[in-house]
Amino acid sequence: MFIAHLPAGYLISRFIARGRPAQSDAILATGIVCSVLPDFDLAYFYLVDGRQTPHHGYWTHTPLFWLVVATVLALMLTMSGRRNQLVLVWVGLANVMLHLLMDSVAADIRWLHPFSDLRVNLVHVPALYKPWYLNFLFHWTFVAELLIVLSAAVAAAIDWRRWRGRAVAVPAIR
Ligand SMILES: [Zn+2]
Repeated sequence: MFIAHLPAGYLISRFIARGRPAQSDAILATGIVCSVLPDFDLAYFYLVDGRQTPHHGYWTHTPLFWLVVATVLALMLTMSGRRNQLVLVWVGLANVMLHLLMDSVAADIRWLHPFSDLRVNLVHVPALYKPWYLNFLFHWTFVAELLIVLSAAVAAAIDWRRWRGRAVAVPAIR
């Protein structure tokens, strides 16, 4: 998916942040960054690899890599007595997995790598237009992306109003 990763990350992260007011800012920030974290490999794709391998084929787009990273981080936090920050690892992992799930719609993701080379690609987007990204913009899956963006925009507007209401109310009480 193109534009829906970050909005979807916002939606799942604000859900996880509910009931954790002390950590909600950190949860939202971590979740939003991690919602697009796998695509940081595009820098390698363009700058180093010379667009030789599709970036969905890199280990940064394999679930096991992120499971290992999350497990190591969780162990480090636990051993250093910072268990209250474990929620940040889980929100990060949830967002990365959601990213890979969304990528599996129109791109092929190797969910079982390195144990199997099975590629999960739910919908094949035919190459009809140039430049290449128009194939995705004119495909029906883009409607799903727009719906996610719209849902996140509504949620963000609600959160913004709530936040402003609180920011205005606090000085009034004092
Ligand atoms: Zn991706």
